[in-house]
Amino acid sequence: MSRRRLHSITRLWLLATVAIVSVAIGSGFVGRRQLRRLLVSIEVEERQTAELRVAVETRLTGMLNREVGLRGYLATGDAAFLAPYDAGGSSAEAAETLLAADEVDRDEIAAALRAERIAAHRWNSEIAGPQIAVRARRPYSAAELTAALEVGKRQFDDYRAVHGNLRNAFERARLTRARNRRDQVARAQVGTGALAVLLALFTAAVSRSMLRSVVRPLVALSKAAERGTISSDDIGSSSLREVVLLADTIAGLFRAVEERAMRDGLTRVYNRGYLSEWLPRQLRLSRRSGKPLSALMVDVDHFKRINDNHGHDAGDKVLVALARCIERELRSTDVVVRYGGEEFTVLLPDTPAAGGAVSGERLRAAVAAMGEREGLPAGIRITASIGVASVDGSDDGAQLLLRADAALYDAKRGGRNRVVLAKRAAAAAAVPAPAVDAVQWPIEVPATLSA
Ligand code: GH3
Ligand code: MG
Ligand code: MG
Repeated sequence: MSRRRLHSITRLWLLATVAIVSVAIGSGFVGRRQLRRLLVSIEVEERQTAELRVAVETRLTGMLNREVGLRGYLATGDAAFLAPYDAGGSSAEAAETLLAADEVDRDEIAAALRAERIAAHRWNSEIAGPQIAVRARRPYSAAELTAALEVGKRQFDDYRAVHGNLRNAFERARLTRARNRRDQVARAQVGTGALAVLLALFTAAVSRSMLRSVVRPLVALSKAAERGTISSDDIGSSSLREVVLLADTIAGLFRAVEERAMRDGLTRVYNRGYLSEWLPRQLRLSRRSGKPLSALMVDVDHFKRINDNHGHDAGDKVLVALARCIERELRSTDVVVRYGGEEFTVLLPDTPAAGGAVSGERLRAAVAAMGEREGLPAGIRITASIGVASVDGSDDGAQLLLRADAALYDAKRGGRNRVVLAKRAAAAAAVPAPAVDAVQWPIEVPATLSA
C-alpha cells in the first residue's frame, strides 16, 4: 500500500465516521420529532372522537326522553308528559350544536353523522311535532292513537338503527386508528433500530479491522520489545509497516527541519544558534572530565577587497571553499561554526592550548595554499588570521570566545596570515606582560595574494 493510499484511506475512514455520526444524531433527532408529532396528532384525534361520541350518546338519550314524553302525552293527553318531551328535545339540540361545530371529516363517521342528523330531523319535524300538534287540537280516537304510536315507534326504531351504525363507524375508526398508530410507531422504531444496528455493525467492522491490522500487531511488537528481540515478523502487518514507515518519515522530516535550523544556509556548517547550545554543554563535560577544550577564531584577511574586486558571488564561493577547507583539515569531532560574515569558529574538544595552536597553524597553511582545485574562483588566493584560546577551568563560553577573538585581533595587528595563542586568563593576572603569546610559526605570505 502506498503512503498516499494510506492517507486517503485514513481520510475516508474519518469522513465516514463523521458522516455516520451526523446521520445517527440527525436521524435520532428527526425520529424523535416525528414520533412526538405522531403522538400529539393521535391524542388530538382521540379527544375529538371522544367528544363526538359523547355528543351522539347525549343526542340518543335526548331522543329517548322525547319519545317517552311523546308516547305518554299521546296515550294520556296529559300535558305533564310534555316536560320530559321538551327536556329530551333541548338536550338533543345541545348535542346537535356540538356535532355541527365538529369538523372531523372521516368518511364513514361523517356519513353516519349525516344519516343520524337526517333521522333526528325527520323524527322532530315529521313525527313528534305534527302528532303533538294534532293531539293538541283534539283527543285521538283509540285507532288513531295506536296508529300514531306505531308510526312513532317505527320512526324511532329507524333512528336507533342509524345511531347504531354511527356507533359501529366510531368503533371501526377507533380500531383502524389504533392499528395505524401501532404500525406507525413500529415503523419509526424499526427505522431507528435498523440505523442503530447498521451503525453498530459498521463500528464493529472498522474496529475489528483496526484491531486486526494495527492494535494486535502493536501489542505483538511491544511484547517483542519487552523480550528484547524484534524481528521483521513482529511488524508483519502491512498496515503496521505503513504506520512505522509513516512515523519514520515524519521523524526524518523533523530531523531535516532541526538540521536546517542549526546550519548556515551558505556554507552548511553550524550556525551561532547551534554554538550557543553546544558550547555550554561541552564546557560542563570538559570541567567534569578535566579534559581541555580549545577554540579557534578564523577570519579571512582583507576579505572586503575580494568582494570589491571580484563581486559578492566570488566572495560567497570563497566562504564555501574556506568552510570545506576547515572541515578537511580538522578532526570529525571538531565543530565548525560560521560565527558571522567571513569569520568562523572552530571548537576542538579534548584539545589543550598547544594542540589548538598546532591545528590553527595547520589550518592557516592549508588556507594559504588553497587554489582553484580547493574551490576558490580563478585568480583568487586568500590568507586567514587565527586566534586560539583554551579553557582553563574558570572560563565560561563567552569568555573563551572573547579571548580567542582578542587573539585574532592581535594576529591582525601583527600583520595577518598568522596564528596567535591567547594569554592564559589566570596567568594574565599574575604576569602583566606580555599581553599575548604570539606563536612563533614561520610566516609565509603568499606572493600571489590577489587582493
Ligand atoms: P580584515 O583582514 O581586517 O579582516 O579585513 P576584512 O576586509 O576581511 O574585514 P571586514 O570584517 O571589515 O570585512 C568583512 C567583509 O565581509 C565585509 C562584508 O561585506 C563581507 N561579508 C560578510 N558576510 C559575507 C557573505 O556572506 N558573503 C560575502 N560575499 N561577503 C560577506
Ligand atoms: Mg576579514
Ligand atoms: Mg571580519
